[in-house]
Amino acid sequence: MTTLTQVLIAVLVVVILGGLLLRLARLSRTQLQGYRFGRDVIVRCRDGHLFMTTWIPGVSFKAIRLGLVRYQYCPVGGHFTAVQLMRDDDLTPAEHLEASRFHDNGVP
Ligand SMILES: [Zn+2]
Repeated sequence: MTTLTQVLIAVLVVVILGGLLLRLARLSRTQLQGYRFGRDVIVRCRDGHLFMTTWIPGVSFKAIRLGLVRYQYCPVGGHFTAVQLMRDDDLTPAEHLEASRFHDNGVP
């Protein structure tokens, strides 16, 4: 292996590790702000509908992600719209109940 190849491999490893660290830092910062991820997280669409969906940072097959907002299907209104991830603490018990009545298909 030439020195140039070794240098290129070292640079590639540093770039990949740096990207992973940045992603982890961004994720933990969002979680510190009180957001929850995974199955059955509550989102609100632009028209105010509340429903539960699966939200895994960095993984999305059915939505266009824009940080804590993404564009996806709303099962309440039957429309494609921007939905925003909600914090559990920001919702009233009535809003939790309303959201729990509607689940989308569970695909992130
Ligand atoms: Zn809606």
